[in-house]
Amino acid sequence: MEYGLHENFPIYSGGLGILAGDYLKAAKDQDLPVVGIGILWRQDYTEQYIDQDGNPYDVFADHDFDFVKDTGVTVTVTIRGETVPCKVWFVDHYNNAPLYLLDAAVPGSQHGWITQRLYWGGNDHRIAQEIILGVGGVRALRALNLEVDLYHFNESHSLFAGLELFREKMEQGLSFDQAWEETRKQVAFTTHTPVEAGNEKHSHWELQEMGAYNGLNYDQMARLGGDPFNMTQATLRIAYLANAVSQLHGETTREMWRETHDKAPIIAVTNGVHVPTWQDQAIRVAYDHNEDLWEPHLKAKKELIEFIRQKTGQVKDPNALIVGFARRAAAYKRNQLIFGDMTVIEPLLKEGKLQLVFSGKAHPDDYIGKNVIKDLVSMDRKYEDSIIFLENYDMKIAHYMVRGCDVWLNNPRRPLEASGTSGMKAAINGVLNLSIVDGWVCEGPQHGISGWLLECHEDHLHLPEDERDLQALYRILLTEVIPIYYEDFPRWQNMMRASIEMAQWKFSSARMIQEYYENIYTKAPVFMEQQTSGI
Ligand SMILES: *Cc1c(COP(=O)(O)O)cnc(C)c1O
Repeated sequence: MEYGLHENFPIYSGGLGILAGDYLKAAKDQDLPVVGIGILWRQDYTEQYIDQDGNPYDVFADHDFDFVKDTGVTVTVTIRGETVPCKVWFVDHYNNAPLYLLDAAVPGSQHGWITQRLYWGGNDHRIAQEIILGVGGVRALRALNLEVDLYHFNESHSLFAGLELFREKMEQGLSFDQAWEETRKQVAFTTHTPVEAGNEKHSHWELQEMGAYNGLNYDQMARLGGDPFNMTQATLRIAYLANAVSQLHGETTREMWRETHDKAPIIAVTNGVHVPTWQDQAIRVAYDHNEDLWEPHLKAKKELIEFIRQKTGQVKDPNALIVGFARRAAAYKRNQLIFGDMTVIEPLLKEGKLQLVFSGKAHPDDYIGKNVIKDLVSMDRKYEDSIIFLENYDMKIAHYMVRGCDVWLNNPRRPLEASGTSGMKAAINGVLNLSIVDGWVCEGPQHGISGWLLECHEDHLHLPEDERDLQALYRILLTEVIPIYYEDFPRWQNMMRASIEMAQWKFSSARMIQEYYENIYTKAPVFMEQQTSGI
């Protein structure tokens, strides 16, 4: 549904899209035969700024991408009984494996609104977008004459591609069950959702109305996705193998779908980030040559400070500790946890010992998330010298923050973070993670060696989760992070080195894509059958 390849190409909302972008770059680096299918969103997800009163507001500007290439191919899909033409564009501009993007804004068509904005509109709108992505995507591959061995569905947004594979096979005379069996040999599925409620469901009435059945009937559709129709469940039943995106998420996901029968086994492939995109070059060189890491780090820190100055006019101190927190504003991410007890935090802010840099967007319709942003902005205004909120979080802000902060703070409620990837970007730059043990962090930093883990003290076990985590955060901040930063510089540098060493292969997209090949793609029944029959 989304790809985050570069800040100048805003067809992504966050982690899911950037993962897909990093994956395509890794595929290109390793010269792997992969192509991506997506949608050319004309108006981004949102550009989100802050008004004079400190409220976030959304801007939806039309983008014209002059680097996308015309393939000359147009495919059609049927939505609500109407024929919708979709133009197919091609992008290889960002050192990425080929990416084909569908676009309903065809001159003369009434249907351009469908692909206007990412994650916008009601259920029917979402279904229409998913028909274009899935059904249109398969038709684009056929029209482009690309021979496909295997389909990898990233999130259940792409499920309808499976229904198009059914339709093709049934048109050739296969029964529904035969088509299911054959399709199942060639579809792999990555699920990213850690909570049941986060999985997309649709009423059959609406799916039928929109034309998403794609030639199937109610009984067949209900066998795949139940009633109401659960997109994740259906995709689990269409795939031969599914995966979660961290080892812990694997356990959570298996537990979540325990009762779903006839589904693919669920394994885990931990996410990774594209190191050449996210790692500072000077840090890389210093690390490789076993040289001082502080000098390149301080340079990156000063670049962040200069970036902040240009955006906001505020000046930060390069010698004082900077803790970064950039994330979507959502209740479970607890963006304001650190402000839980101002009697602890305020003195640190006033003495200039602690500087906080925040960024993040809320979904345009998420009023709770927007209030989180508003609160962060009011902290920025109250503690001008020590707190900054950077509006309109995007890959550019992430670029400066994940290399220029000293510490990367992550404190979501557990176990709601499927993986998380911004902490990996920080880790490969020697920016030390201070994190709840959830998602990738369970496999990552070691406490006091390559980061800090927010694990609670036994005296606090009886407290509610938020209070417990807050106490852990304060204890570690006050007794470890701040003293080491100001008083034990050699230890800090050792930790930076250990962080890079821990992360730069293990949490790279290069490792991730190799694991997809070894543990998922090469295990596809389409290939196994070829091997046993000696082809
Ligand atoms: C890496 C990244 C994300 C994902 O980070 P999480 O740790 O998963 O929250 C989101 N947005 C941007 C702009 C990023 O660069």
